[in-house]
Amino acid sequence: MTEIDCAIVGAGIHGLCAAFWLSRRGKRVVVLDRHGPGHALGGSHGATRITRSSYHEADLVRLATEAHQDAWPTLERELGTALRAATPGLFFGPPDGPFGDYLRATLAAGVAVEAIPPTTARRLFPLLRIEDDDAVLLDHTAAMILAGKTMERLRSWLHAHGATFGWNMPARNLVADVDSVRIETSSGTVRARSAVVSAGAWSHELEPSMPVTTVLRQEVGYFDLDAPTARTRVGAFPVWARIARANDFVYGLPDHADAGTKAARHVTVGEGTDPDDEPPAIDRLALLDLAREHFAVPVRGLRAAEHCLYAMTPGQSFRVARSPLSSRIVQVTACSGHSFKFGPVIGRAAADLAMDLAVG
Ligand SMILES: Cc1cc2nc3c(=O)[nH]c(=O)nc-3n(C[C@H](O)[C@H](O)[C@H](O)COP(=O)(O)OP(=O)(O)OC[C@H]3O[C@@H](n4cnc5c(N)ncnc54)[C@H](O)[C@@H]3O)c2cc1C
Repeated sequence: MTEIDCAIVGAGIHGLCAAFWLSRRGKRVVVLDRHGPGHALGGSHGATRITRSSYHEADLVRLATEAHQDAWPTLERELGTALRAATPGLFFGPPDGPFGDYLRATLAAGVAVEAIPPTTARRLFPLLRIEDDDAVLLDHTAAMILAGKTMERLRSWLHAHGATFGWNMPARNLVADVDSVRIETSSGTVRARSAVVSAGAWSHELEPSMPVTTVLRQEVGYFDLDAPTARTRVGAFPVWARIARANDFVYGLPDHADAGTKAARHVTVGEGTDPDDEPPAIDRLALLDLAREHFAVPVRGLRAAEHCLYAMTPGQSFRVARSPLSSRIVQVTACSGHSFKFGPVIGRAAADLAMDLAVG
């Protein structure tokens, strides 16, 4: 009988969180990844992420509340450190466009989010360009997730709790039988009582029964604004997004660790790409134009820029389910450019499904 209770394919936020919940329950887990620790080739790298309750669907507001009030606090307690930096959330746009759904779903949910007039929003956050006819939500549940720290601390917590890692060890195939799953990798076969596949943009390639995702490359900029540094930092500067029209969604975050004030377009439609393709050169001029369009103060320059991948799921929905081919394999399909905040909840759902199978 195999010693490993669960093998997790993919060490992004979803895989690491699944490993966390299983380890926390005393299960023996191995985490495999085709790349090395902290690589920048998937969807979970980068120093920061937005978390918010402001959403266009009641289910997502509820999921955010579960993440904020239960899953993230548990993770922070267990890892013994803060993984979120409190800062206001500001979400805005024309009320007769897609932002109308945000207003309806979020304000109806009774979470700590309030509608404020654009004049008040401009007074509170003078570095942002807010139009007179924008509706504005001030989200008191929002925060900046210290994503880089979260990934690093999860890996070290897992090491300290007996989990093993197989870095640069791509899984090639999963074969399940009555009492275990064999994961064939580039460096031999791993056998475990159950497996979780959370391979992000590569999931369908590995498990064809998983939904096809459209992989969209994102470009993120870190800008120098003509403003006092203190005004660009956590607490004074919000996590924000302007949701103007369908597929015209621009977001940003405070300057973290002097990296520059972060902003990017949330690209959710377009020609998919192969996640293994060499990324094209970043369009720095387009990033500067985006910044000049959305900041109300002069943009002195683009300090840095990075690529990142979205795995767009059908309908941008999340799915955590057993494989139709074997109940010993749990499949995680979640990203669409907004699921880091839900990582601890999605990871727990995957761990719950895998748990049943991890017993003797
Ligand atoms: C630019 C950008 C900004 C974002 N901003 C936000 C935000 O503000 N708030 C928010 O909530 N979310 C945000 N997101 C979304 C969020 O970061 C992602 O949804 C999430 O990180 C995806 O995690 P994952 O674990 O599913 O995938 P990944 O992090 O891509 O992990 C999948 C892992 O599987 C590994 N793998 C693949 N194939 C194999 C194989 N065959 N064998 C072994 N390993 C394999 C890969 O190497 C990778 O490490 C953003 C994403 C991007 C790209």
